[in-house]
Amino acid sequence: MPYITAWSSEDVLADPEATPVLRTGPGRTPTLVYPDEQSQDRDRHGILWRRVTWAPGEGQPHFARVHPTRHRRVMLRGACQICTAPASLWMTAAPAWQAHLERLGPDAPYLTMDPPVCRSCAATAAAQCPNLRAGGFVFLAPRRWANVAVRGQVAEPSTDSFSEPRLVPLPGAVTTGAGASVDLRLVMAESLVSGLFEVTVHHDADAVAGLGQRLDAPARP
Ligand SMILES: [Zn+2]
Repeated sequence: MPYITAWSSEDVLADPEATPVLRTGPGRTPTLVYPDEQSQDRDRHGILWRRVTWAPGEGQPHFARVHPTRHRRVMLRGACQICTAPASLWMTAAPAWQAHLERLGPDAPYLTMDPPVCRSCAATAAAQCPNLRAGGFVFLAPRRWANVAVRGQVAEPSTDSFSEPRLVPLPGAVTTGAGASVDLRLVMAESLVSGLFEVTVHHDADAVAGLGQRLDAPARP
């Protein structure tokens, strides 16, 4: 079973405890908090993450859905999304790569939420990942890569609501084209986003030398 696959017992979107609240008041900068916040609720940038239950193996696997915490772990470590060994291949859906070329061109960084895989799991990913199976896939060989943004919702203090999920660049990340920066105190992150730079495309995994040079420091969540 792929490590990042979500299980039916991990369905958290309906859990009111998982939603942070906006702390406001005179002289206070509006900030998203959990009333019972723990240190692991924030990453090293101070960004608040959506809480999720952890129950792999319980209930049914949802192959089309990714568990946010396990997804984040492999993205932080550059680990295989299926077996968690050190990864060496980026795979992405061929239509997504084609859309990137048409919209931004071959020289633009490729932003992706698809964690990499190791060589022995590439065939499993191609067969089991609905995203890759549907329209074919390509291997991407970037010269450099880094985790450059989070995808998440941004609180809007004036209306006490959340935006649709959007990309928020990480502090200090290399330029990505991910959009204007926002107040990180208002962000509820759901996914890490990797940026792949100077990408060469391959259809043969043997032509790919590895993930590319990593620009940010590998870390544990
Ligand atoms: Zn693997």
